[in-house]
Amino acid sequence: MFDFHITCNDNASPACSAMDTYNRAGQIISDNLILNTKIIVEITVERRPETFWGATYPAKVFNNLDDIRRYFPTALIKQVQPGFPPEGTDIFITINSSRDPDTYYPGTGQIQANQHDFLELVLHELQHGLGFETVWYQLQGNDLFPDFDYTLDNNGVVTFQSFKENIFDYFLVVHPIGRGVERTTPYVQALNTMAGPFGKTYNNMGDFYNGVIQQQQQQGKSYTKSMLSMATLPYRMSFMANDGNDPIALETTYNPFKLGSSISHFAKDVYSTTSDFLLISESQAGKTLEDKVAAYGNDPGEGMGPDLRSLLATMGYELRIPGSPPAKSSNKITTNNSTDSKLKSVVNNRNKKKRIVAL
Ligand SMILES: [Zn+2]
Repeated sequence: MFDFHITCNDNASPACSAMDTYNRAGQIISDNLILNTKIIVEITVERRPETFWGATYPAKVFNNLDDIRRYFPTALIKQVQPGFPPEGTDIFITINSSRDPDTYYPGTGQIQANQHDFLELVLHELQHGLGFETVWYQLQGNDLFPDFDYTLDNNGVVTFQSFKENIFDYFLVVHPIGRGVERTTPYVQALNTMAGPFGKTYNNMGDFYNGVIQQQQQQGKSYTKSMLSMATLPYRMSFMANDGNDPIALETTYNPFKLGSSISHFAKDVYSTTSDFLLISESQAGKTLEDKVAAYGNDPGEGMGPDLRSLLATMGYELRIPGSPPAKSSNKITTNNSTDSKLKSVVNNRNKKKRIVAL
């Protein structure tokens, strides 16, 4: 249920000819999830100056829900809305071949102590492509903002449209010190009201952020300061899975905040040696995916653990593996006609902005 297309910008990299590995990763996901529509994945292999190993961007479409723009990965929408236009790439993955010396490519002998398994990397990146990613990554000093849609003219004038949320963020909760669990969607809604209305202009990006920070101060609120604090303290953010499942602790131990790693991973100090090892942000070297499945107990997920399956099911994917948590979220994605037509109307405008989630 996956089609992989490879763009090779570094002919020396084994990643250019690792089709068996890509297909194997796709098969593992198909063994875990009931997929009824093909997911198109574009893999670009190139030498990059950054240290990231793999970076992923899911194509998304939005719907205006709860007075904000909520984005859904096309990989998911395809599964839950029959007839959703299937053309176009759903998942963009960049493989950084500068990391080849410490990458283990299956079929090349034994994995070395410094090497990370390429199959594990591909399987990990694909999960981001299925929608495991936050929009809470715009860092401004001591404030963390969700990403937002806007236009910029030649003079740098910002025309605000809307703060946004990924379907992943809809299930995000914070645990502020001394208070109960709070969902973050109301934060986004409040910030949207402060920054808007739709079409409001700001002289430049600095004015925009300062304006929203000042608005919060005037109203005695501290959403964006609190979010940076929650994102950089252990055990302060979770993903609320469907009823019957425990909250999933997310990665909030990096201080300073680490773009591409913070929030969009499982907490490594909780999960690194459990059956949900796959989605921590720093893969353990020297063990293949198979080694870890054997060591940490992962039958029958083949590397996809129970909390990962639960997270995917909560976002709307249907689980194949029996005995898993409640199979499918019933109310998280509206599929009425108006939703359908809105999603279709924006399909030609797939958000191609290359925001990456780096391993
Ligand atoms: Zn990652």
